[in-house]
Amino acid sequence: LLIERILARKGSDVAWVPPTASVTEVLATLRERNVGAVVVSDDEGQTAAGICSERDVVRRLAADGAGTLELPVAEVMTSPVVTCEPNATVEQTMALMTERRFRHVPVVHGGRLAGIVSIGDVVLSRVQELSDEAKTLHDYITTGR
Ligand code: AMP
Repeated sequence: LLIERILARKGSDVAWVPPTASVTEVLATLRERNVGAVVVSDDEGQTAAGICSERDVVRRLAADGAGTLELPVAEVMTSPVVTCEPNATVEQTMALMTERRFRHVPVVHGGRLAGIVSIGDVVLSRVQELSDEAKTLHDYITTGR
């Protein structure tokens, strides 16, 4: 199963902010879009200069205190961003997330952002695939078809 199948269902829209956005603005975007991370883009969402997740903000708040909220996201984000292509497999992308310990992977096609998948998206799609496979095997065993 390929990442493009997940994007076909959820769409190619990516929540992004410019590098000059404040951490407060990032938090507002996370809440409005109901997501756990935003891509930081200096070209209107065409490419990813960085990524900022809830975890970056929480860590910086714990280390530096409330002043964090006024910082530009460029000072809090992770860069470079690890991305995948739409023709990556769901299994490969899950392994990447597990190894690198992050829960978001922007998808890039032809050098441009083409979507983003979260660990929730890849786990759901993998569970569905395995359950379809189990059903096929079960039907085969019980009916011979
Ligand atoms: P997450 O698990 O996605 O909330 O992110 C955990 C940490 O990894 C945070 O510091 C993120 O900025 C960073 N991170 C998340 N996704 C990526 C990615 N695709 N490439 C690089 N760093 C990432």
